[in-house]
Amino acid sequence: MSVDNDRCRRYGICVAEAPTLFRMSTDGGLRYLRSVPATEIEQAKAAVRSCPMLAIALNERR
Ligand code: SF4
Repeated sequence: MSVDNDRCRRYGICVAEAPTLFRMSTDGGLRYLRSVPATEIEQAKAAVRSCPMLAIALNERR
């Protein structure tokens, strides 16, 4: 998973949608898991759908 920092506006919706994958750091930046565990894929997809800036990309491995 990756987040385009040029698009991300730090709204934090992804954090609310998938708190196990995203969090806001104390300096106001967005932290997230690059490698999404298989058990968290649905949460990651929900975060992708929730982002108003379309900043989140999920690169699924098959
Ligand atoms: S929902 Fe999108 S714009 Fe908002 S913090 Fe997450 S990645 Fe950034």
